[in-house]
Amino acid sequence: MHGDVLSHLECARCGREHDADAVQNLCHECSSPLLARYDLTKVGRPTAENSLWRYRDVLPVREPDPAFSLGEGMTPLIALPALSRALDARVLMKDESLVPTGSFKARGAAVGVARARELGVEGIKMPTNGNAGAAWALYAVRAGLRSVIAMPEDAPLITREEVLASGAELRVVPGTIADAGKALADVGLFDASTLREPYRIEGKKTMGYEIAEQLGWRVPDVIVYPTGGGVGLIGIHKALHEMRELGWIDGKLPRLVAVQSTGCAPIVRAFEQNAAESEFWADAYTGAFGINVPKPLGDFMILRAIAETGGTAVAVTDEQIALDREECARLEGVFLCPEGAATISAVRALRGTGWLAPDDEVVVLNTGAGIKYPAVRL
Ligand SMILES: *Cc1c(COP(=O)(O)O)cnc(C)c1O
Ligand SMILES: [Zn+2]
Repeated sequence: MHGDVLSHLECARCGREHDADAVQNLCHECSSPLLARYDLTKVGRPTAENSLWRYRDVLPVREPDPAFSLGEGMTPLIALPALSRALDARVLMKDESLVPTGSFKARGAAVGVARARELGVEGIKMPTNGNAGAAWALYAVRAGLRSVIAMPEDAPLITREEVLASGAELRVVPGTIADAGKALADVGLFDASTLREPYRIEGKKTMGYEIAEQLGWRVPDVIVYPTGGGVGLIGIHKALHEMRELGWIDGKLPRLVAVQSTGCAPIVRAFEQNAAESEFWADAYTGAFGINVPKPLGDFMILRAIAETGGTAVAVTDEQIALDREECARLEGVFLCPEGAATISAVRALRGTGWLAPDDEVVVLNTGAGIKYPAVRL
């Protein structure tokens, strides 16, 4: 029976339990993100649905509505043989360009909005680098929720248009996503910003379930993730633990790699300094806009996931990202988003240092469609 599998929310820092059937943001004790916990003894195998809802037993929506889905999830895991040869590496790509709204943010939006509706939320507000706002505004329409979205003025133009087309209120602000957050202080709607809302991560973790299922319930050696707020990386890590507890996978977890741009690399700096948390990255800028997050709220969770799996964090330049984006198009006929191209640059850098071995099986995430960014400056 699906409806009673979600048991509670647990603080990622202090462990305090919270009621999952009340509207929640951060921990009442220590203001850290909350994570959904399930009674895993009640979880059944994936269904036949060709979307992330096939994992409905490990999703927080008690009564998923099939009519709400746009078909998000179950994206292909593609071999990149020519690029692999060029990099002397073994690279597979999870291609999120095929998700509705053109980025993997739709995974988090589909699950987060569906759960918000179930909990009786009337509207959401959200600061965004573009893609999340677009996805949440559009899914909010499907759920009949209002939305107010704030984004930096240099966020990809198409994401503004998506938000406006949805009928949401859009606030465009100078600065970074941190400034966009401040521009919503007066709005009295549910705060759905990254990790202040417990269920977006549940949608994004399905990338981890899919990777394992698509490999025949096996995990790769390494997963490389373009890290902004880090929700996808934390989510994949959470999925790996759940799958291990469920007995769906066993053995060693993949080493998780966070990739950032040298223009905004708070996680890489913290990792190199062996710090438990990051510090605010001043004057952050990268053309890989989705990863332009100067101080992620979940930094300690990202760093924990990297450390626990024997992973690493690496910064790559926007110039290298641009070159690798071209290289992938030329060799594979795949036009990556800049954030996705950063994962190729990371593979290149980590082969260069020897951190990656030639026979390591590496899954990289192309988190969005290259065609969403016709005018990107890298
Ligand atoms: C948001 C975003 C990212 C970063 O995702 P996080 O889970 O916040 O780290 C990467 N790529 C694209 C295209 C994005 O929109
Ligand atoms: Zn807490």
